[in-house]
Amino acid sequence: MKAIQTAILLLASLLSGGAAAQQAPLLTEPDPRMQADVLLVVAHPDDDVMIGGYLAHIVLDEHKRVAVVFATDGDSGGNNAGIESGAALGDVRQLEARHALALLGIDNVWFLHGHDTPGQDPLRSLDRWGHGQFLEALVRLVRITRPGVILTWLPQSVAGENHGDHQASGVLAAEAFDAAGDPAAFPGQLSAPRNRTGLMNLTEGLLPWQPQKLYFFTDAFEVFSPYWHDPAVQSPFRKNLAEGAGPVYEATTISPSRHISYAELMARQQAEYATQEGPIGAAALKAHDLRLFEFPEHFIFGKSLVPGSVTGDIFEGVSAQPVPFHRAQPPQAPPSSGLTFQIGDPWRFYSSFWKAHGLDHLAALIPVPELAADFSEKLSIPLLACNRTEQSAAIAVTPALPPGWTDTTPFSRYTVPPGACYPILEQIAAPAPGKAGWQQLSWAAAAGTQQLGAVSLRIYVGQTGGLPQ
Ligand SMILES: [Zn+2]
Repeated sequence: MKAIQTAILLLASLLSGGAAAQQAPLLTEPDPRMQADVLLVVAHPDDDVMIGGYLAHIVLDEHKRVAVVFATDGDSGGNNAGIESGAALGDVRQLEARHALALLGIDNVWFLHGHDTPGQDPLRSLDRWGHGQFLEALVRLVRITRPGVILTWLPQSVAGENHGDHQASGVLAAEAFDAAGDPAAFPGQLSAPRNRTGLMNLTEGLLPWQPQKLYFFTDAFEVFSPYWHDPAVQSPFRKNLAEGAGPVYEATTISPSRHISYAELMARQQAEYATQEGPIGAAALKAHDLRLFEFPEHFIFGKSLVPGSVTGDIFEGVSAQPVPFHRAQPPQAPPSSGLTFQIGDPWRFYSSFWKAHGLDHLAALIPVPELAADFSEKLSIPLLACNRTEQSAAIAVTPALPPGWTDTTPFSRYTVPPGACYPILEQIAAPAPGKAGWQQLSWAAAAGTQQLGAVSLRIYVGQTGGLPQ
């Protein structure tokens, strides 16, 4: 009998593969401490104040989890609080951001340590940061935090502060929205480590993650304190770009849990940024005058993979269950032919970027390119003349500038070889100090008797211009 039992056990062992029948360890879940409902992607420590009332509202009163990524340390800003500048200021500003966000209950904060790049061109920021490396880093953080919603700066050139870094963070966030769920994107992040609890794991073991909704906000004058209620800065050429473009949240609402307004919570958040505009927040709190923080917080709908409306709540339709990867399908554009004349970067870039990421509706927010400039400010306007014919072309450019503008462009005729594009730079200067307001400039191009069309640009000229071009 004993011999039969032994034989049965031996047979069972052989049939089940011997030692391999031992139960393997259960799979480990992604770290729940990292999970976020919202991932905020911005450029500088203090950009978070722009939507601070909304962050306070969802974290303190709706118990949402928010994680924040800052692309830079803000190492090029000024310092209102101490002697530190450059990299030292960047270290200080990182702590200011952690303190400011902790006031709102936000602790999961990352810095990508890009250099703060003053100017209005997002392509300079992306190039200086290392675009590919930053995208990889941001995709990693999306996969770690697994957000339903991404909030970021509007990737669009606006008349306002129009910081190139702000726009660049919006470009990266839109790219990461589309890449993080892609199993073929940054596969080293997705490959299982050899031995998770041991040493020398050179792959990351993350899982693809598809966010569900993407929203933007902007520092365009018309939605940006302190200019948003000033009719002098409103464009006479078009409606407010944020009107009907997404949900709006009132900062004057009283927080049920804190019994003060979201505007006051925003002022406290700003007061932590003592090196930057913290003194404005501190003064507002001291004087009990929160008007600078009581602007409506406008969001601009980017895209959504779940049902909902453009102006509905940001969490409308967000599913508790993961959604499948959605590959953005850029529309097939007809190949350009003949002679063409268009505005250069960053507008040329945006027109193809929006299409590539299913954000083409952003083009309609500002149908004609815009800028802001100070009185007498010198501007370089990039234009592009392309020749998709088989013969060399002589292209003449004729400006149409309103009175008071100065044009110092050295050339007006350009020889463009077949298959080439000539990058033209128009050098102009805004009128001397006078009446602030909007003006329209244009440049027409022709090749002999063939008219190639005109490029228009609308410029707000006044003392509230943004950063240098
Ligand atoms: Zn900023």
